[in-house]
Amino acid sequence: MMETATGTLTVAYFSMEFAVDPAIPTYSGGLGILAGDTMRAAADLGLPAAGVTLLHRKGYFRQHLDEDGNQSASPVEWSPEKYLQKMPPRVMATICSRQVQVQAWRYLVRGQFGHTVPVYFLDTALPENTPWDQHLTDYLYGGDAHYRLCQEVILGWGGTAMLRMLGYHNTKACHINEGHSALACLALLEEQTWGRGAGNDATPADVEAVRQRCVFTTHTPLPVGHDGFPLDLVRGVLGSKRVDDLMAIQCCSDGALSMTNLALNLSRYVNGVSMRHEEVSRNMFTNHRINAITNGVHVGTWTSAPFCRLYDHCIPEWRRDNLYLRYAINIPLGEIRQAHAEAKQGLLAEVEQRTGVRLDPAVMTIGLARRVTAYKRSDLLFSDLERLTSIARQAGPLQVICGGKAHPADEGGKALIRRIFQAKSALEGIIPVVYLEDYDMALAKYLCSGVDLWLNTPQKPREASGTSGMKAALNGVPSLSILDGWWLEGHIEGVTGWCIGDACYPETRPDRDAPTLYDKLEQVIAPLFYQQQDGFASVMRSAIAMNGSYFNTQRMLGQYLQNAYLRGDTNLAVPAADIAATVSPSR
Ligand SMILES: *Cc1c(COP(=O)(O)O)cnc(C)c1O
Repeated sequence: MMETATGTLTVAYFSMEFAVDPAIPTYSGGLGILAGDTMRAAADLGLPAAGVTLLHRKGYFRQHLDEDGNQSASPVEWSPEKYLQKMPPRVMATICSRQVQVQAWRYLVRGQFGHTVPVYFLDTALPENTPWDQHLTDYLYGGDAHYRLCQEVILGWGGTAMLRMLGYHNTKACHINEGHSALACLALLEEQTWGRGAGNDATPADVEAVRQRCVFTTHTPLPVGHDGFPLDLVRGVLGSKRVDDLMAIQCCSDGALSMTNLALNLSRYVNGVSMRHEEVSRNMFTNHRINAITNGVHVGTWTSAPFCRLYDHCIPEWRRDNLYLRYAINIPLGEIRQAHAEAKQGLLAEVEQRTGVRLDPAVMTIGLARRVTAYKRSDLLFSDLERLTSIARQAGPLQVICGGKAHPADEGGKALIRRIFQAKSALEGIIPVVYLEDYDMALAKYLCSGVDLWLNTPQKPREASGTSGMKAALNGVPSLSILDGWWLEGHIEGVTGWCIGDACYPETRPDRDAPTLYDKLEQVIAPLFYQQQDGFASVMRSAIAMNGSYFNTQRMLGQYLQNAYLRGDTNLAVPAADIAATVSPSR
């Protein structure tokens, strides 16, 4: 077995959630999938990289839906021993003046040429810890602000210390994937001042040294979405000295610690996850230079078996160099249609097995699945049932497959699922609507590859990127989507898919979105699907060639390497010296 040599890492990737394997429920959505896909691309490339996350013994949650769409949640039981290897070292993290012991479990992400990248899952379920501390790494996004902050301490300090204990002494870039892991920056700053004796305050040079090692990716286009903790809470968990340090780095305001500001101020490179998101983030964080690296998906993971076979046959180099997917433009349309028919059959068989509902393979099938939360507006398709019914009667029959979990504390999201269930009943006998429980990696792969049209209706400008439409594109499934996030870059009207609304208004106008959604379905998409098979198949093919070849993690990781990991300071709108100068060595 080829293993990553310890000692040197190009990147240490910190993320609160990580989707490394469909059987390991340590993710909630796009953020974790991105982390997993990034490590898969790193393993393909043979890059010295490592991931760091928490073990989440109870997973995110298992979703149950009753016949009215009421969601209930139960913990997911899984056995880390079955999939992960326990590592010998223990490290300590200080929480509320207690020493909490942390161990790590390793998962090896295997690349296409056998290179592996380790992901370390931090775990506090050790008999030496108090019963409360033993549960610290159990629930992903569960618990209150205090629990979350303690988890972020484990991730930041525990993760940094663990990498060192495991022998990684030379890390080029410490990648902070969203603010949850920003405390890793503070942990690095403490390492920087070790061995100086009492009053080991950070000097401007120390701050600068840490900045040179950190890269931060922000994912949240609204100020309310950013992690913030009241300073009293932070003082209780981290102690006064660390709060003083945090104040000195200027990441506290209005009596709260902002994890985003911490990461912004201690990173040499900062990026958003699409061009539009870069723009939105620049307006939010005017003191920083924000860059754009648009997300991607890992092609080997998200391409269905029938399309893998087709690409292996027509463009054998496609996995090694994803750019070759551009050559899909020459694949005969009949073969694209055939591969899609097989993927669709696979999805419909899965639907029947899970729900007993038999859908018709000849009917145009719309897919919509994502985290269910108000801004994603998964119910927009059902906002005018009369109109939808008339489209199905006149333009051609429709069927809809939905999926997605609402965070257990998100009442708006849970209500949204109930509304979809109401629409489902109202449409009975006219448009079959199926809502599949427990949307996860495995289901996402079936859905994104097996439907005929991928629908995404977020409220602008809140879709930082979105990645499920990229998975669909890889499988020749065109998108019908709001022009936000990645779709502003991937959309060519009538060529790679279709848009809802237009690009020229930056904020959503709800009155305009539903009507254009219906107009497109009725006047453009359904007629193409039912009356011009080749026309529809050529959109499928262009989606692969234009978008599959670009919106993948191989291209994305290459951009991170060139623009962030292997490059010097770019976060210079605020001169580094201004931030560093505020840390007083004499305090
Ligand atoms: C890809 C994926 C997501 C992210 O999809 P978006 O389009 O970004 O909402 C969320 N959950 C699962 C299970 C996925 O596979």
